Amino acid sequence: MSDAVKSYDVVVIGAGPAGSAAARQARRLGLSVAVIDKAVFPRVKLCGALLSGRGHKAMKRVFGLEPDHEHFLYSRQVAFKWDGEELVRFTAPYDLTYTYRLDLDHRLLNEAIAAGADDFQGVRVQRIDDAARRLELSTGEVLAYGVLIGADGAASPVARHLFGAAFDDDKIGFAFETEAPVPCEDEALMSIDFRIVHWGYGWNFPKKQSQTIGLGAIKGVDQDLKARMARYLKLEGADPDAVKIKGAHIPLGDYKPVPGRGAILLAGDAAGYVDPLTGEGLAYAMETGAEAAEAAAEALKAGAPETALDVYRPRIRYVEHELDKAKRLRQYAFSSTLSGLFREKLTHSQTMRQAFFDLLHGEATYDDIEKRVSKEILAKISRTMTGWPSRLAGKLRRKGARG
Ligand SMILES: Cc1cc2nc3c(=O)[nH]c(=O)nc-3n(C[C@H](O)[C@H](O)[C@H](O)COP(=O)(O)OP(=O)(O)OC[C@H]3O[C@@H](n4cnc5c(N)ncnc54)[C@H](O)[C@@H]3O)c2cc1C
Repeated sequence: MSDAVKSYDVVVIGAGPAGSAAARQARRLGLSVAVIDKAVFPRVKLCGALLSGRGHKAMKRVFGLEPDHEHFLYSRQVAFKWDGEELVRFTAPYDLTYTYRLDLDHRLLNEAIAAGADDFQGVRVQRIDDAARRLELSTGEVLAYGVLIGADGAASPVARHLFGAAFDDDKIGFAFETEAPVPCEDEALMSIDFRIVHWGYGWNFPKKQSQTIGLGAIKGVDQDLKARMARYLKLEGADPDAVKIKGAHIPLGDYKPVPGRGAILLAGDAAGYVDPLTGEGLAYAMETGAEAAEAAAEALKAGAPETALDVYRPRIRYVEHELDKAKRLRQYAFSSTLSGLFREKLTHSQTMRQAFFDLLHGEATYDDIEKRVSKEILAKISRTMTGWPSRLAGKLRRKGARG
């Protein structure tokens, strides 16, 4: 490694919502911070970019940014679908807001930089030396850190460095998405199709310059996602041959049991913090990025950066708790045994709709939702269920026995 070393209290790898939140919060706590991203912003990131009410709360708390009509399309109009058939159309109890990650992530990163984070865009990390707490960049520069925060997304190189792999190929989700060139206005209809794929769903979100149409599901479930995407696009009125379809991994319930090691912390998708039922990850990314910065500050203040993970773990237990509950409840939404009941509730149950939007708005937790779900359903979701599709659960058990 070269001799010219820059030292920071915190180095953040990845400048998505988790990384920018970590950097912004670290600056608020008076720490010196460098934020590194291989991309130069504004950069494209595949995402429905429905920023939930919970996401807006995190964005306000961490970045001081309010929801606004310049950057978001607002609508409360929702349709629930079932394999192309519209089950119900209604007005949601809260505003739903849709944006583009190209814009959102750039704004968040600019906030972190304006707050004094040193900006390393267009730079990759070549090597991490845990013992020396240093890393070498593709530019040849060497950065020393007190605490390192890996906020480098679902394929996290930091997670690979720590654990040998960023995710389990059976449990990760995979999604296809496209921007259909249909500009939308406020109060345009959004739709979710709960049976266009197995163990996942499809979405058609209105945006100012397009409709974002996509579907995602657990990758380990045997189905031809590409063919399903083509079919879904046709059902949604888009020509699969005329649009550019891209694919990306999305964590769906397989968060890291230990999100880091010593002075290295993982936040956002790098740790697997995405709701396995709704696919929402933006709020968790900002929340856990900020928590990682808080943990770093506390460990550094105690003069013990290597204890950062011990400080971080209890701070993010509420996220793990939520994801565990969501994973159990998705059995109800996605398993074929309960599909009739789920379809019937989607169509007729005001309580379930209210619960879904309360959750997205950050007005309810999965604990609250579980209390509201009827005894009839709870009786059917046995505690012995794993939260994974049954064939995949069998495979995972066999894999576990071998490993
Ligand atoms: C198709 C799809 C649709 C989605 N829709 C929604 C939605 O509507 N609402 C919602 O809330 N969530 C949605 N999600 C989830 C959401 O996109 C993620 O949870 C969110 O992006 C997580 O943010 P993050 O900062 O952890 O990671 P990311 O946003 O992935 O940011 C990681 C950053 O790390 C950088 N990076 C990676 N490797 C390196 C490296 N070696 N060196 C330096 N930098 C690196 C990347 O360039 C990137 O900028 C969706 C996901 C997908 C795939």
